[in-house]
Amino acid sequence: MKAMYYDAFGTTPDIRMLPDPTPSKDGVVIKVEATGLCRSDWHGWMGHDPDIALPHVPGHELAGTVAATGRQVLRYKVGDRVTVPFVSGCGRCGECHSGNAQVCPNQFQPGFTHWGSFAEYVAIDFADQNLVHLPENLDYATAASLGCRFATSFRAIVDQGRVRGGEWVAVHGCGGVGLSAIMIASALGANVIGIDISETKLSFAREVGAVATIDGSVTGDIAEAVREITKGGAHVSIDALGSPVTCFNSIKNLRRRGRHVQVGLMLGEHAAPQIPMAQVIGHELEIYGSHGMQAWRYEAMMAMLETGKLNPQKLIGRHISLEEAVPALMTMDTAQDLGISVITQF
Ligand SMILES: [Zn+2]
Ligand SMILES: [Zn+2]
Repeated sequence: MKAMYYDAFGTTPDIRMLPDPTPSKDGVVIKVEATGLCRSDWHGWMGHDPDIALPHVPGHELAGTVAATGRQVLRYKVGDRVTVPFVSGCGRCGECHSGNAQVCPNQFQPGFTHWGSFAEYVAIDFADQNLVHLPENLDYATAASLGCRFATSFRAIVDQGRVRGGEWVAVHGCGGVGLSAIMIASALGANVIGIDISETKLSFAREVGAVATIDGSVTGDIAEAVREITKGGAHVSIDALGSPVTCFNSIKNLRRRGRHVQVGLMLGEHAAPQIPMAQVIGHELEIYGSHGMQAWRYEAMMAMLETGKLNPQKLIGRHISLEEAVPALMTMDTAQDLGISVITQF
């Protein structure tokens, strides 16, 4: 198969031919039809992710058709159109049994713990527990874009943040995660404020549902600006970027008993950010992480897609080739791309 491959962190990846994968006994091989490019791929390529062993094939947001199945797989057959959460649980541990495969200690992550989907084929373990059938009218590129940012945002807003209609939600960072969070919170009836340093991204944020935006490049005190718009602070705030500044602001701008959800990854030098802990205690704030979403929760998200309440296809930016993904991956931390780039040519 053709794949993107690197054997050292931070060096230009190759496009090269590698042996086709074979399924494990409880896994499948998927022919990749579309796969999204994400900041976590950049973190991985930089060497920030301890799960990655070299040499490596990145890619974790994917959709495609089942090309081969292991002998124990019962629920999927060759030709099925599927996607998969980027965290796949083992199905056998306590976390998985409690419905929380997204924190399974034996988790399988394509593109991190195993070779990923920047390739013509990808092997996925624990298939029966984690694959998700695609509705007929859902195209592969949109389905691929759900796997990480959109699904993670859905869990962050709906399950972790418990956003309700009429609440104020602040979203720090209007990249793929942030725009998804804005769209989802807005669909639930919340009033959403988008915060970014790019006016282009802020105008996109308003297009997908933000009722107000704050340009961080010209606003001195962002927490104060949020407090002013919301008359006292956000009920729920999301750090969709993952940086010490956005994390701090996202907690700082909460009203009393507000909920902060950390979605953007904090790796490398950002692994131990400053937290306004006195405010967390005095105002009884709640702080959550959000790490992917379990396959069984896709049903609720898919239902909102099918009825048109959510339109993740709006968030797709460029369709690119595997070759074009090499420079795109390497410049992911500084690129000003609007929306999600998806590889659809291999
Ligand atoms: Zn498990
Ligand atoms: Zn991702």
